[in-house]
Amino acid sequence: MKCFDRPSPNFDDRANGAKPELIIVHYTSMESTAAALTRLTDPAAKVSSHYLIDEKGNIFTLVNEEKRAWHAGVSSWMGKDDVNSRSIGIELSNRNGEPYTNQQLFALAILCKDIMHRNNIPPENIIGHSDVAPGRKFDPGTHFPWEKMARHDVGRWPAPTLADAFNAAAVAKSPVRLKKLFNDAGYTVHAHGKDTPALKDVIFAFQQHFEPEVFEDANGTPGKATETTVARLRAIARLNREAAAENTPPVKPATPPPPAP
Ligand SMILES: [Zn+2]
Repeated sequence: MKCFDRPSPNFDDRANGAKPELIIVHYTSMESTAAALTRLTDPAAKVSSHYLIDEKGNIFTLVNEEKRAWHAGVSSWMGKDDVNSRSIGIELSNRNGEPYTNQQLFALAILCKDIMHRNNIPPENIIGHSDVAPGRKFDPGTHFPWEKMARHDVGRWPAPTLADAFNAAAVAKSPVRLKKLFNDAGYTVHAHGKDTPALKDVIFAFQQHFEPEVFEDANGTPGKATETTVARLRAIARLNREAAAENTPPVKPATPPPPAP
């Protein structure tokens, strides 16, 4: 694992002094690392990321973390747009569909730990491009091992309780209840208009991340919620609520009035 500087001109200031609070994982979907680096540093391409990790686990720094890199595009997370202003983008060199190498995943875990430590970013805030742009983006894809990476605090993996699984079949058929659950989990159905993203796109994106087995099952129906989708969605929503409660600073006691003269 070596580190290299490959400065990209494709960045600007984070809007309204926003600080990085998310890490967005991407794949390059290009023939080679060299081709990806050329594109991510080409002023005409107007795209970039903060980091790129190649198959050998080498880390290339393209944009200073203080600046806004241009990696997420039209996107939304936890009800807020302009994901670029509040995130750090990491590209994994990968032709779409190939397994990631262990060296690459190891380098990603080390880099994420470092970014998380310096920016106080919790594990649940490491997500994929497909999570913030359902229906439009599909990276890092079903080959990205989210469950395995969560064991190293790169993302969170849901462990549904019996309560999370309760009545899940009925909820899976209710667009209204699914929409509310997705909202609690961070995904905004119709964030950018009537059908953008549509509920089925959000279900598809969630399954890519948290229910990859539906893509491997010959009878699987990606984009259609299952009992497992609902149970894991509830578990993620619950983890987010618990994390938010933990991160809420305690209410300070009111300052007593000065003593009367
Ligand atoms: Zn991407």
